[in-house]
Amino acid sequence: MTDERRLLARTAEIAADFIDSLDTRPVPARGSVGELRVALARPLPQNPTDPVSVIEELAAAGELGVVGIPSGRYFGFVIGGAVPAALAADWLASTWDQNAGLYACGPSASVVEEVVGDWLKQLLGIPAHASFALVTGCQMAHATCLAAARNAVLADVGWNVEEAGLATAPPIRVLAGAKRHATIDRALRLLGLGTGAIAEIAADGQGRMDIAQLSAALAESAGPTIVCAQLGEVNTGSFDAAREIADVLEGTGAWLHVDGAFGLWAAASDAHAHLVNGHDRADSWTTDAHKWLNVPYDCGIAFVAHPERHRAAMTVRADYLVQAPDAVRDEVDWTPEFSRRARGFAVYAALRSLGRSGVADLVDRCCRHAERFGEGLAELPGCEILNEIVLNQVLFRFKDDATTSAVLRKVQESGEAWMSGTRWEGRSAIRISVSNWRTNEDDVVRTVAAFARAVEEIDA
Ligand SMILES: *Cc1c(COP(=O)(O)O)cnc(C)c1O
Repeated sequence: MTDERRLLARTAEIAADFIDSLDTRPVPARGSVGELRVALARPLPQNPTDPVSVIEELAAAGELGVVGIPSGRYFGFVIGGAVPAALAADWLASTWDQNAGLYACGPSASVVEEVVGDWLKQLLGIPAHASFALVTGCQMAHATCLAAARNAVLADVGWNVEEAGLATAPPIRVLAGAKRHATIDRALRLLGLGTGAIAEIAADGQGRMDIAQLSAALAESAGPTIVCAQLGEVNTGSFDAAREIADVLEGTGAWLHVDGAFGLWAAASDAHAHLVNGHDRADSWTTDAHKWLNVPYDCGIAFVAHPERHRAAMTVRADYLVQAPDAVRDEVDWTPEFSRRARGFAVYAALRSLGRSGVADLVDRCCRHAERFGEGLAELPGCEILNEIVLNQVLFRFKDDATTSAVLRKVQESGEAWMSGTRWEGRSAIRISVSNWRTNEDDVVRTVAAFARAVEEIDA
């Protein structure tokens, strides 16, 4: 074997050993930050080291601080695993090392993105004429879509924002729900609109936007307006009523942007598609492939119903360079990046390996596990389920904040499973997000049992 072949084979073996250990290893990282620094910090190497040693030592030292995110018992934040085909395709993407900014630097990467853009629109119920971009995550997908929105609402009042900037532009109003994700605010900051542009719309007890208040706010002013709705609130999994919001916006000229970071995947399941009803009437949509589609980080997706707005906001060419209809797709025209990773390969592999039915099954299975969690946890003494379990999120607490925090800490320290805490309506709560293809019924049983033990120990 050549040295390079031996290195790659050895690395694949280390990776497979890690996957095999998932059932038995603790889910949280084992090492403290101090231990990690001791294990990893060393003086800047003066001389070369053999690559096999580099990888073996990195794997041994780095493993101390690796969180078991690919485990079926990792329920933190909203974090998916990686389906095997996507993981393998991601290795291939690194091996091929294409620069997916220009067709010329990776023709297959460019065409694969065309293909997955089309597949994703079909799968997620996005209109076929929409444009798309694969970006690092939902954060940058928001920045991309809201840049297109900014272009459109200002063009409507005769302002070319790409050329004239914002310093003396007509103000833009952003109407967004009180339970919007923080990445909406940051996208507005990055785009120079500022969080001060937000007029917040109240949310109900599940985090859904109040439609009557939205309607009243829209009636207040007719200037350039962007509305940000959400499909899938991070604590409860609740959905804004897309159809009602689209109805209220009809004829107002406001741009409707939809944050569907994980909730948009409900559209891929017959059993859950009713939750997104009417979402196809939006002007732009964002979601994450690295959440529920289970491709490795990083992969967010932006869709825009007005391709000319999207392109005008992102392109790095002059507008007069109109391309022939059969022209190649240079990704730089649609993304905020220039040089970029060929993210399309992993998405392509995930969608091919799962198929429509596999994605639907993944969504339905995770939601079923969430329901089982709800049933199992509700039987524990003092446990209160706080959300309507409509999707894959379960929000709950115990009799008071101190008990809730103590139970969460005990479960986390047990190593059996990991999930994050949150605040909900002024009180401590625990949230479980089932987003990993690997999670099975045994994982749910083991995790509920870990909670039962924690409650027992605290009560004793
Ligand atoms: C995760 C999430 C985001 C941010 O996505 P990233 O991929 O982490 O940038 C935005 N909105 C919602 C609702 C989310 O769940």
